[in-house]
Amino acid sequence: MALSKRVDRLKSSLIREILAAAQRPEVMSFAGGLPAEAMLPKVDWAQMPAGIGQYGMSEGEPALREAIAAEARALGVPCEASQVLIVSGSQQTLDLASKLFIDPGTQVLLEAPTYLAALQAFQFFGADCIAVAQESDGPELEALRQALEQSAPAFAYLIPTFQNPSAVRYSEAKREAVAALLDEFGVTLIEDEPYRELVFDEGSARPIVSRLRKASWIYTGTVSKTLLPGLRVGYLIASPDLFPYLLRLKQSADLHTNRIGQWQALQWLGSEQYRAHLAELRDFYRIRRDAMQAALLEHFADLADWEIPQGGLFFWLTLKQPIDTRTLLDAALQRNVAFMPGEAFFVDPDRHPGHLRLNFSHVGPDRLGEGLRRLAAVMREALPA
Ligand code: PMP
Repeated sequence: MALSKRVDRLKSSLIREILAAAQRPEVMSFAGGLPAEAMLPKVDWAQMPAGIGQYGMSEGEPALREAIAAEARALGVPCEASQVLIVSGSQQTLDLASKLFIDPGTQVLLEAPTYLAALQAFQFFGADCIAVAQESDGPELEALRQALEQSAPAFAYLIPTFQNPSAVRYSEAKREAVAALLDEFGVTLIEDEPYRELVFDEGSARPIVSRLRKASWIYTGTVSKTLLPGLRVGYLIASPDLFPYLLRLKQSADLHTNRIGQWQALQWLGSEQYRAHLAELRDFYRIRRDAMQAALLEHFADLADWEIPQGGLFFWLTLKQPIDTRTLLDAALQRNVAFMPGEAFFVDPDRHPGHLRLNFSHVGPDRLGEGLRRLAAVMREALPA
């Protein structure tokens, strides 16, 4: 069997393996980023227009592209519908961008920690990933400048709003500073924002792409966290110099995104009920966030430090005594609890032991305390005496 050289870089996905183990109904899973079942809107397939099953345009449904461009302009992103490409979840943006930018050895700049599946996508194409340390309000600016001076990245991949996994939201000042640095060094920005709408306080901040003056950019979002992940509908908006390449790559990947999913997404995004749904979602997740905070205080106060997330779906814990959390996972699964080991989110996992990502959207408040109690017990057993 003759396979491509690229395939040697295919790593099995820890998250997929865990999610598979965590599928057992008795497992309380804090591992994935799954929306709460109760908050998934119902689809009325009976309304589906005739002809929607026909082949469609590679760019996506025109009305959906218009709606997304209008939303983005309201956030300050300067764009037209012609710059919007509907994709099969924002994960596809990461795949298309990898194909566009990455040859083996191409340098890519990202946050430490960063989104696991982005790391996998970039590394599959042979990227040399350079990670910049994060503070509670965004990247360490001096480290970012140094990385830009000492390397020649094809792009910077950032998740500035309720980052996965750290829940960090960049401050206004850091957004400005990052945009200025990327402009100065002429580095393309890929800004990934699946969690922008899942915000629990008043604060919101304009995307970084809206602050760029010169650098090329891709801004990507999804309906996965606010509506249904199973629709597989996301979008990218690209600066005009990049769009034609991304469109051709999309055509060679899958011709176009599922039209039934696009139609359903448009029904919701354009509706009165959508705003109400978002408000309800924020209240629902705020309550779950608060329940997890209370349970963490009860069981983890002496074990870990964390900040209270102001949005998104995750708590990011830093253990007071760093241990390899990958080895904890088996013990936790034996007690029917799953979590994401923090190592998975780093380019150099062995240098970053002692973090955990805990999802608060999926397990209900009635079971959450018991799950965290078991997890804390597993952790105490693993700590050196
Ligand atoms: N980017 C980030 C940061 C994410 O957390 C996720 C989902 N976990 C994605 C992209 C992919 O989302 P989608 O379902 O739209 O492919």
